Amino acid sequence: AQRIVVKVGTSTLTYPNGKLNLQAIDQLCYSLSGLVNENKEVVLVSSGAIGVGLGQLGMKERPSAIPEQQALAAIGQTQLMTVYQQRFAVYGQKIGQILLTHDVMDYPTSRENVLNTFENLLRLKVIPIVNENDTVAVDELDHHTKFGDNDQLSAIVATSIDADLLIMLSDIDGFYDKNPRKFADAKLLHTINEINAKTFEKAGGRGTKFGTGGMTTKLKAAKRILDANKAMILANGENPSIIFKILNGEQLGTLFI
Ligand code: ADP
Repeated sequence: AQRIVVKVGTSTLTYPNGKLNLQAIDQLCYSLSGLVNENKEVVLVSSGAIGVGLGQLGMKERPSAIPEQQALAAIGQTQLMTVYQQRFAVYGQKIGQILLTHDVMDYPTSRENVLNTFENLLRLKVIPIVNENDTVAVDELDHHTKFGDNDQLSAIVATSIDADLLIMLSDIDGFYDKNPRKFADAKLLHTINEINAKTFEKAGGRGTKFGTGGMTTKLKAAKRILDANKAMILANGENPSIIFKILNGEQLGTLFI
């Protein structure tokens, strides 16, 4: 079976005011359930916990203190999973939650346990929904307990489970030769075969208030995928049913291969 990892960013899941974009979530759930019905194996890596937590508490800005962010993640994660559970249930699709930290994937025993869990969920036609375990992962200088962002987490998951394709949905149509939010003449790059220092220079500035990674972390993720000889597509998640078009071979977004 074709194995696909789909990563969605906060900007796809929430409105700029932090409220959940239920229409986008519904479309995402509809699309992924459809893929499972086509006998594909699907993993969803979903950001959004902190953004959802912000929205629930009516806060406008992401707090700078890490413990506050972790509290928001704890609040937002359950809300997010509740919504996924409800929307996926409409399409008869079962889900399972996998929260990961870096050390889990670094130690052979815990890594093997997690990979076994993935295999069993996929065998049961369940969609694993993965997020970084933000309530325990802390970004410290010398202990790299945090993946840093779900872009790279999605690439680590995709390569670890030997997925054929990583579909990364963002708030932009793909990777451009310069930041299209700053330069009106920026051009979409359709295919990227190699990622080097020059590529990273094209990624400037972070995106939205609630999105975290910006293009740099997406390129780092893409590099992991290329190093593993797999493929990644970066596309606009505004309309998550774009997944069907991508898998039908329509030239959309940026293909890293
Ligand atoms: P998400 O929340 O979906 O993970 P981010 O906001 O973190 O998305 O990252 C996407 C943003 O990266 C774009 O909206 C854009 O502002 C910014 N960006 C910077 N450089 C580029 C580039 N070369 N091509 C496309 N987007 C870029």
